[in-house]
Amino acid sequence: MTTAEPTEPSGTETGIRLTGRGVAVFAALAAAVVALALVVPALADRFQSANGGVLLSDVAKGWSHTVLHPAYWVFLAVLALLEWRWPARRGEGLLSTGGAQDLAWLLLAPFFTLTLVAGYVHVLDALYDGPLGGTALDVEGTLGTAVAFVLAFLLADFFMWFSHWVRHKVPPLWRFHQVHHSQRAMSALTDNRVHFFESIVSATLAYVPARLLGLGDEAALLLALGTVYFTGFTHANLRTNLGPLRYVVVTPQSHRIHHSTQEPHWDKNFGAICSIWDRLFRTQYHPADEYPGVGIDDQDFPLEHSTRPAAVLATYGRQLVYPFRKVAADLRR
Ligand SMILES: [Zn+2]
Ligand SMILES: [Zn+2]
Repeated sequence: MTTAEPTEPSGTETGIRLTGRGVAVFAALAAAVVALALVVPALADRFQSANGGVLLSDVAKGWSHTVLHPAYWVFLAVLALLEWRWPARRGEGLLSTGGAQDLAWLLLAPFFTLTLVAGYVHVLDALYDGPLGGTALDVEGTLGTAVAFVLAFLLADFFMWFSHWVRHKVPPLWRFHQVHHSQRAMSALTDNRVHFFESIVSATLAYVPARLLGLGDEAALLLALGTVYFTGFTHANLRTNLGPLRYVVVTPQSHRIHHSTQEPHWDKNFGAICSIWDRLFRTQYHPADEYPGVGIDDQDFPLEHSTRPAAVLATYGRQLVYPFRKVAADLRR
């Protein structure tokens, strides 16, 4: 196995040079979104109420606390600077063709998570509260708020690990998860490249345990936001394994291994926040100094090649439809 050099370009990925124009476009976009948040607070409230109280990171990613919140854009700007200063590999990062495509996934995701996915979770709510009687354990009353929060955190993190493992091991689900892995340029936005069908799968797997634990809206939101920021960081194009912290948490280096194009790295490091599940279930890749190129080996996948807005949108549509086409083709075989 080879260890990648830091200056080696990643596959066919073409990096966007940090030009004044690029920074201006990025800043204008961020300013437009922040202005939107200020002008339409009711919109933000609506997004929040559609997602609050669900212990599932993908569904609970409300726009009001991410895209429509200045803190998220400051977070991205800081990571862009860190990526520029300490890149895992040159040509990757936020200012790349892949970064532009991830931005489309970030901005367009709410159309599905706030409609199809939220609607699906409401159906689960109705089933759970109706025929299943809405059973919940009073963990907070019995063990106290702090213990209940830690338990909920560990439960949520375990189910993110488990759901991720399932999406790799069940072939039709891999077709959808493949979209996330299609990125050839890791960046702080890559975790937004998630097909809405994956959110439905995650919601289904974690629903009953999350409801049983009965976490309140505020704690659920805190968990969801913590996950958004942390997984943003672990997807960034950063050359760090966080030293001894890597034995407890996922790092930009360990998650890059998960996205690697090299076969020895496949089906390793499924963790979202804690690395303990991978260590427990023997799916951890132990060497912590490799920074391989990333992507998938699928010649048919509609990869992005341009940062022109029309091309990015067209590619987004093709990437969204591709898993359905692929599953249908698999079934016909
Ligand atoms: Zn994966
Ligand atoms: Zn990932």
